[in-house]
Amino acid sequence: MKMRKGTLYVFTGPSGAGKGTLLSRLMAADDRLFFSISATTRAPRPGEVDGVQYYFLSKADFEKKIAQNAFLEHAKYVDNYYGTLEAPVNEKLDAGYDVILEIEVQGAMQVHEKRPDAVMVFIAPPSFEELAHRLRGRGTEDEEKVCRRLETAQREMQYTDRFDHVVVNDEIDRAVRELQGILAERRT
Ligand code: ADP
Ligand code: 5GP
Repeated sequence: MKMRKGTLYVFTGPSGAGKGTLLSRLMAADDRLFFSISATTRAPRPGEVDGVQYYFLSKADFEKKIAQNAFLEHAKYVDNYYGTLEAPVNEKLDAGYDVILEIEVQGAMQVHEKRPDAVMVFIAPPSFEELAHRLRGRGTEDEEKVCRRLETAQREMQYTDRFDHVVVNDEIDRAVRELQGILAERRT
């Protein structure tokens, strides 16, 4: 019998909305999901490990991969490149896994064009004030970078109508249940 191909999910939302928090909860409870590890030129945060959270590349190596057409999508976000390597995504989908991309809006739109069957999910904060509070509370960026991420967030929030689902991350348990419901829709 031929194995069923997995579904591709794109998770997008402004920095600080809680994508990472919700996805780690989702992944821990679901062994049919594969989280796509992106490549980036940004520096690792304390505790981040190459090949775990990201593949940390130099700008030259990233640009080499762009030239080799290795990316399903890529974008510049606040001075750095971020991109999804295409080969591992295809391998996992072919092996029957559902694959999750956690990417920003420009990349999400590229995937939407190239893979119209991808399920598009936007994770929104309950309010802009709460987004700013979470981003500052995380403490991973200096104030200048926080401001640039918040400016970008204002633009990103204008894209919600391009997504199949908008999930407001108000309360973690509730939002995780809503996401599990979205995954279940394609698995029946
Ligand atoms: P993103 O991956 O979207 O940038 P994170 O998952 O890193 O966001 O979350 C940003 C911050 O907000 C973290 O400090 C996280 O602990 C916190 N957070 C996430 N979800 C919630 C929530 N529902 N309520 C309150 N704080 C949250
Ligand atoms: P961070 O620096 O906080 O890890 O990520 C910054 C932004 O880049 C987030 O919105 C995150 O979703 C996005 N991002 C992470 N990986 C990728 C990727 O492979 N492609 C694109 N386009 N954006 C990504």
